[in-house]
Amino acid sequence: MLVKKNVRTRSLPVPVPADRRRFRQRLLAWYRRHGRDLPWRKTDDPYHILVSEIMLQQTQVERVLPKYAEWLDKYPSMEALAAAPAKDVTKTWYPLGYNIRPKRLQSIARESVAKYGGHLPSDEATLLSFDGIGAYTAGAIRSFAFRERAAILDTNVARVLFRVFVAKGDPKSHAMKRHLWTLSETVMPMRHVFDFNQALMDLGAMICVARNPKCPVCPMAKSCVWRRTAVVREPAE
Ligand code: SF4
Repeated sequence: MLVKKNVRTRSLPVPVPADRRRFRQRLLAWYRRHGRDLPWRKTDDPYHILVSEIMLQQTQVERVLPKYAEWLDKYPSMEALAAAPAKDVTKTWYPLGYNIRPKRLQSIARESVAKYGGHLPSDEATLLSFDGIGAYTAGAIRSFAFRERAAILDTNVARVLFRVFVAKGDPKSHAMKRHLWTLSETVMPMRHVFDFNQALMDLGAMICVARNPKCPVCPMAKSCVWRRTAVVREPAE
């Protein structure tokens, strides 16, 4: 795979346009055949997207599915969640765990009702001003709810981008995270950003998993740097 120097970091490469194009095409073609059918992919309601994204932090999709339905049944809007007693909100969250999350969700709902009429704004700076909305969640809300051209980087996406395009260095370092954000922005298409971002997450969750990635059935197998360098890397691990 050809690369050119990333002008922002000067040391880490970004893929050239032809490789970006191939990556997008392969990813989207794979997603159209294998992407998961999930309820939060059938809505553009920012509140519903927010609920799904907060629930999916640290929690498997299978555990989130029934709770997502129950939650929206009980709190169908920002207003309903904002007005609910905090104790009930925590109880409804059970057994998802990490109980700071329902508190954050309710605090976002209350702020949205107090300042934005129960809506979530679409601009990045305002989304980031909410306590509990970080860069990933802001990108997810913008691309999934508002269909904007916004990059995302969660653990799964970071793993895919690191393996396909980098495959060396410390994937957890700040410099690498910055570079992976740059990569996520660089490979993002002009159109179909919703599908592209969902596809990145699915590839990381279903194929390029943390342990024993399923390289033989991966759409990136031909170009992935991690796969190509596996023989060299393995003796050192
Ligand atoms: S080829 Fe293997 S390591 Fe590379 S992206 Fe696919 S599953 Fe991940």
